[in-house]
Amino acid sequence: MTVMIRFLLNNDIGDCGACTVVLVSPSDTPSGLPLQYAGANSCILLVGALHGKQLITVEHLGTPTRLHPVQQALVEHHASQCGFCTPGFVMSLFTLFHQEFAAQETYSQPDLRHALIEQYLGGNLCRCTGYRPIIAAAEMLLDIRLNQEVQDVFDERAAATARTLLNCQQKQNAEVTTSVHVPTSIVEALSLWKLNPTAQIIAGGTDLGLAVTQQLQTWPAIIHISNVRELKTVQHEPDRLVVGAGVTITELLDIMTLDFPDAAPMLLRFGSEQVRSQATVGGNLGTASPIGDLPPLLLALNASIELIALPEGSSAPQTRIVALADYFTGYRETQRDSDEWIYAVHIPVLAPADTLRVYKISKRMDDDISSVCAAIWAQTIEKGGIRYIQNIRLAFGGMAALPMRANHTETVLQGSELTTTVIAKAAQALHQDFQPIDDARATASYRLQVAGNLLHRFQIELTEPDVLTDITVVDSCMESTL
Ligand SMILES: Cc1cc2nc3c(=O)[nH]c(=O)nc-3n(C[C@H](O)[C@H](O)[C@H](O)COP(=O)(O)OP(=O)(O)OC[C@H]3O[C@@H](n4cnc5c(N)ncnc54)[C@H](O)[C@@H]3O)c2cc1C
Repeated sequence: MTVMIRFLLNNDIGDCGACTVVLVSPSDTPSGLPLQYAGANSCILLVGALHGKQLITVEHLGTPTRLHPVQQALVEHHASQCGFCTPGFVMSLFTLFHQEFAAQETYSQPDLRHALIEQYLGGNLCRCTGYRPIIAAAEMLLDIRLNQEVQDVFDERAAATARTLLNCQQKQNAEVTTSVHVPTSIVEALSLWKLNPTAQIIAGGTDLGLAVTQQLQTWPAIIHISNVRELKTVQHEPDRLVVGAGVTITELLDIMTLDFPDAAPMLLRFGSEQVRSQATVGGNLGTASPIGDLPPLLLALNASIELIALPEGSSAPQTRIVALADYFTGYRETQRDSDEWIYAVHIPVLAPADTLRVYKISKRMDDDISSVCAAIWAQTIEKGGIRYIQNIRLAFGGMAALPMRANHTETVLQGSELTTTVIAKAAQALHQDFQPIDDARATASYRLQVAGNLLHRFQIELTEPDVLTDITVVDSCMESTL
């Protein structure tokens, strides 16, 4: 049985946001918020994702005589035209209204505010292109939150909701149905899989939701692993960060912003807020897609992947660790055995002098799959006014049938001066590493050209730091001069 939570007729691929709903769960994040609000695309949301969560739809917000502050702000700014997208915008702004209210500092700085609004609205497509009044409504909402003038019914009921959700989780676990399972521990999950070997494993469902809506796939049983607590853990060890497979991209973004700040801009362009809040690290590696955004980043960081299985006749799971560089073996093929799951990713910490850059090239800035994704980790040193590369790892997505390192190109750069001439040679070596394909996202020659250009960008950023290379920065400079 596969149940989709659809509220509107739309394209069912999760990238217009018109059907956005909000899932509320009790929070144990460091933010200390009693509840966590996450927008999600209902058109690709599978029913197991609702387990132990409160579902809020646009119908719950206000009444015609008593609008919710989000609705009121949109009305005051005339921010609805044909109306098709409006429910989705309401729900994304509702998420912003609730989720970010602790971030007062962010609200008071205009460029951070603008970036935050873009982050929350990036997954909502307005077909009339009337974004300006919607952004004005968002600004008004942030002012309201900043001044703490307004509470809504959801604030008033927050504590009771948190209690209900926690109790409901315990109660419902005892009543799992035969076709949709939502285990909470790894042993329970792996044991269920032993009993249901044909069951589909679903984490965030942002890939598999499309398998249902686009390929009309059905499964005899589903095991939702998004509530498995061991998969949600993050451990900060002295030499590495261990991130559970069930950590969402939104959560990863929080972690990376602290420990790997140079990865954050790319992660902010992973899908949309609605996608990031559901999509998981394990799901991104589980699909083993050549255009997934995490593999290049993790390859450049020399990460390893921890796999887990329950051996026959045992109740104690066993794990093994594989270097990510060896993990991908072909187009959507990996070293993972058929009885194994992804348990965690081990990411070596950066030394203070390490450089990390991650570049995502896609047709649209927001909510789009990469044509090329490049991640570069390097150790460089300056001698006599010249910067030398001591060590480098270059990893690319979108350039081959699998995400992979550019070994020939790395050899050219290793130990070399970081100059335009060397970079031009390295860009040529990319032709030895990759023979990309032409497809709807980009042609082979574009991919090779842009990959070489990204090497140039890396060189400029390290040797001429005053040169502006980031289009989003240029964009916000222009906005502030308008
Ligand atoms: C609108 C939209 C935009 C998107 N944008 C991006 C983007 O910008 N960048 C990008 O990289 N991707 C993007 N995606 C794809 C998708 O969001 C990611 O691949 C995501 O990380 C998948 O995670 P999930 O938890 O939703 O996976 P699921 O759909 O739940 O699962 C995907 C696969 O992984 C397997 N799996 C899940 N967890 C495990 C585990 N622990 N062990 C073993 N197997 C497992 C599942 O069985 C399934 O085969 C986008 C998708 C949509 C719909």
